[in-house]
Amino acid sequence: MKHFPIFMALEGRRVVVSGGGEAALAKLRLLLKTEANLTVVASDPAPEIVTWAAEGRLTLIARAMEAGDAVCARLFYAANEDDAEDARVADLANREGALVNIVDNLEDSQFITPAMVDRDPVVVAIGTEGAAPVLARAIKKDIEERLSPRLGLMARIGKAFRAKAEALPFGVKRREFWAEYYTKDIASSEDAQITLDALLDKHLSAHAKEGRVDLVGAGPGDPELLTLKARKALDEADVVIYDRLVAPEILELARREAIMLSAGKEGFGPSVTQDAINEMIVSHARNGSHVVRLKSGDPTVFGRLDEEIEACEASDVAWSIVPGITSASAAVAALGQSLTKRGRNSGVRFITGHDTKGFADHDWKTLARAGEVAAIYMGKKSARFIQGRLLMHGADALTQVTVIENASRPDQRILATTLGELEPTLTQANLTGPALVFLGLAPRAALNAAQQHELEAAI
Ligand code: SAH
Repeated sequence: MKHFPIFMALEGRRVVVSGGGEAALAKLRLLLKTEANLTVVASDPAPEIVTWAAEGRLTLIARAMEAGDAVCARLFYAANEDDAEDARVADLANREGALVNIVDNLEDSQFITPAMVDRDPVVVAIGTEGAAPVLARAIKKDIEERLSPRLGLMARIGKAFRAKAEALPFGVKRREFWAEYYTKDIASSEDAQITLDALLDKHLSAHAKEGRVDLVGAGPGDPELLTLKARKALDEADVVIYDRLVAPEILELARREAIMLSAGKEGFGPSVTQDAINEMIVSHARNGSHVVRLKSGDPTVFGRLDEEIEACEASDVAWSIVPGITSASAAVAALGQSLTKRGRNSGVRFITGHDTKGFADHDWKTLARAGEVAAIYMGKKSARFIQGRLLMHGADALTQVTVIENASRPDQRILATTLGELEPTLTQANLTGPALVFLGLAPRAALNAAQQHELEAAI
């Protein structure tokens, strides 16, 4: 971000515009909306400027700019539409301590004026750092259409009502009151007043809000793989308790005021104990908060979900599950394969390399059969153990094995190998992100190449 957006207090502050033509007029139309003390310095001012000066809306100095004209100015606009003159006046204003903007000259300007959607006191400023003015205009148009023309009126009346709204307890209850007010369509200021009074009555008499818990799947990492329900839950959450594997881009989507708490869990072996997490979830919900418990992938897959549900039930806290895309789905998509395939495997197993006791035990004999497909979660550290068990139970050392690290994320990596070579290949690859091991699957491209090779060998 080369330009930092701020809203500057201009009430009673001096702002000087040098220039009297179209460029100056465009800036003045915006500046006249403020309560700044405006001065225009122009040897040939447009008639509008003369009129505004006569109406007392600005001070006109009808000559070319001289040293001293920008003294005490907060902002200065060089709007002469003449590069040499703009450079001259900008230099003068700069020396006099004003922040300088040269119209249509991003490079030499110390600040830029954004595209604006004005519903005073609600103002939306849009900037693209000069990179895409067309985009800025399109965004402006979009926001203009979305915001009611009476939003400014609503906000002004709402502001005056703030003292009365303090009858509602601070926090969730008051927030809900305002959220509902701003969804209303208001025709006039009387209408707004009536609506506010009625809403306040309704909210004051409403029962104390009950907290609840959404156990939400954050998907494998790509924010576009979030469900709409997950998005909505994040939008509305008061508290978000997230696992370490949840991608930062997804946490960004949470409501700005939400309290963000890390449950700090590794793929296995929690660093914050499960009991402490349960306690965190339940205590926030009992305080009336909408808690989003955000877990990577699908919360129902190796997510210790049941323990959290039981904790909610034991405390009489309402809960619901929002499923997500599990990493096996994202990983298999990265391979261009499907989890099941006619004639290859009519079932697929989701297994874990670890359980609470250490390396997890499985029905190795079944898994070792040709054609078996298994998605192995948390399989990095246990790869050698799994490899040993499967080979011992008669699995073919040439069985395809693929490891997908960071599935669906920009740093996704695919490691295609065989059961016989899984280790030391995996250790040597030095994977640092979460990884899923697929037993019995190879990337489609590699498979095609191998088949081609076999075909050629046969000819
Ligand atoms: N509930 C999660 C799984 C949690 S267990 C889900 O449905 O995906 C944590 C394990 O999930 C990690 O050890 C890793 O094996 C796997 N995992 C999670 N995110 C992953 C990703 N983006 N790419 C590959 N594997 C991932």
